[in-house]
Parts: sequence; structure tokens; C-alpha cells
Amino acid sequence: MNGDISYSIIVPVYNEEAVIDQTYRRLKQVMDSTKEPYELIFVNDGSCDHTTALITGFGYQDDAVKLITFSRNFGHQIAITAGMDYASGAAVVVIDADLQDPPELILDMIAKWKEGYSVVYAKRTKRKGETFFKKQTARLFYRILNISTDLDIPMDTGDFRLLDRKVCEEIKRLPEKNRYVRGLVSWVGFQQTAVEYERNERFAGETKYPLKKMIKLSLDGLTSFSSKPLKIANYAGAALFLFGLIYLAVLLLLKISTTSVIAGWNLVMAMQLVLTGILLTMMGIIGEYIGRIYDETRDRPLYIVSECYGMIKKERNVKKVV
Ligand code: UDP
Ligand code: MG
Repeated sequence: MNGDISYSIIVPVYNEEAVIDQTYRRLKQVMDSTKEPYELIFVNDGSCDHTTALITGFGYQDDAVKLITFSRNFGHQIAITAGMDYASGAAVVVIDADLQDPPELILDMIAKWKEGYSVVYAKRTKRKGETFFKKQTARLFYRILNISTDLDIPMDTGDFRLLDRKVCEEIKRLPEKNRYVRGLVSWVGFQQTAVEYERNERFAGETKYPLKKMIKLSLDGLTSFSSKPLKIANYAGAALFLFGLIYLAVLLLLKISTTSVIAGWNLVMAMQLVLTGILLTMMGIIGEYIGRIYDETRDRPLYIVSECYGMIKKERNVKKVV
């Protein structure tokens, strides 16, 4: 481990050939201006374009460039985790590769860190160039998460943040597989503060977060930091039971007090649909948690590194050099 590095910048990359050159230049410019030693750790999350070749190209002329390549696409949150496992700086910064997070803001984060804060996260005041759907679903998700958990996870905040070495070490100790890193950062505590910024549009290329990955991320966030969804089953069950009792009572009353025949089949049909719907939803919620319990018990490694450039391959949480 190189103990004298001040800053480790972790950049998860997945098929980012369109932006990576510009990202590297901007990051280098910003980090050079600190006049302190730094490393740029690119975590290649199974890209199948020219991303790897471009990054090793930067590495020929620049010792600060390091690259960890995964054997396949393991996902953004795992790429960030791997970056933390390999980072050796006194402060660690996580930033997206697409320049939606302005690298220049890192200087403000460093200033706050030097004031004594252990975590400096970047809070988005505006999101540019993203679809109405993405903005609204993200907004809704942060609010639902906020209501469902007792933990104070900052709203409208992504993974763009600076962590002190001690925070990074604590996060490395957390073994969970379905990781929602920003939640974990809140969970470990320490003194945290925000710097605000306007989120730019992607410099180039397409989003690597299709709806499917967004849903997975939000479910990881919710299930990792709240068991309220499990309790919905309880409340809904109790409410349905009550509803059923009242319903029966009304039927009984009608039977006693009137002579008209009740067309029962369509009511039964409607009830059947409602009940099956609710049952399936509840089973789904329980399934989400059970699936995650299964992931934890299997205890597979979080990721597989196929190649390292500029650093030595190591195993997670084990200080063994392979
Ligand atoms: N990313 C990744 N693995 C994935 C998906 C995304 O490493 O499976 C990286 C991607 O290269 C980018 C960051 O995660 O650096 C954020 O992704 P993106 O900008 O596509 O997400 P969005 O900003 O659209 O939510
Ligand atoms: Mg982006």
C-alpha cells in the first residue's frame, strides 16, 4: 500500500468510451491543482467497448492512473466498493465518469474535509438533461426512503462524495452484498456535511442506468435500511380482516331486513381479484427480503477482478497479495 497518497479518486466506468478522455483530462487538471499526491482509480465494470484500452493509454504517461477490471458487469455500487477496497488515499472521492458530477467540486469537498468533516457529500439542487420520468422517480424514491427509515440518508444526493480514510475503512468492514453505498455512508456516521451543486447533463454517451438497474438500486436502498415494507403486510392483513368482518355483517343485515336477491357472483369476483392482488404483493415484498437473505448466506465474493493495472490485485477484506 502506498501510504503517502492524499487523494484517491474512484471512477466507476461501464462502456464510457465516449466520455472517458474528457473525464480524465478534467480530473487531472483539478487534482494537479491541489499540488498533493493523488491516484485516479478507474473501476472498469465489465465494459465491452474501448474504455479499457483508453484508460491504459492514459496510464502509459501518467503514474496516477490505476485500473481495476471486473470479469463482467457487477454493477455501479459494487464498482464503487471495489474502488474503496483498493484506494489508499487519506481521503477518497467517488465520482461518476460521465461528467454529470463536476470534478471542480472536488476542491470544495477537500476544503470542507480540511475543516474537519469526515464525509462531504454533493447535494443536487438541480438536475439538468435528465428525463422528467427519471427526475420524478428519483425524487419520489428519496422521499419514500426518507419516510421508511429511521436513518438520516440525505435526499437528492448520489454517490458523488468525499470520505475520510477512517470512514472508508469502516465501510470496507460492512459485508453486505446488495449494497446501497450512500446509505452505508450515512449508517457509519461521523461528521457529515454537504456542498451543493447543479447536476449537469451527461457529457456524451447514454445512461448506463436503465429502469431495471434503477429499480434494483431503489429496492436495495429500501430493503437495506428499512423493514417497514414487511410491516405493510401486517397492517394490510389486519385491515382486510376488519373489512371482511364488516362486509359479512352487512350481508347478514341485508339478508335479514330485505327480501331482494343479492347478485353475489360479481362481488365475489371483485373480492377475489383484490385479495389475490394484495396477497401476491405481500408475498413479493417478503420475497425481496428472503432473496437478499439468500444472497448474504451464500457469501459469494462481491466481485471478481480479472486484471489490474498500476496496482496489485488483492482479496476483499483480506490483506493478502495474490
Ligand atoms: N456504471 C457502472 N456500472 C453499471 C452502470 C453504471 O460502473 O452497471 C457507472 C457509469 O459508467 C457511470 C456511473 O456508474 O460512471 C453512473 O452511471 P450513469 O451516468 O449511466 O447513471 P445516471 O447518471 O444516468 O443515473
Ligand atoms: Mg450519469
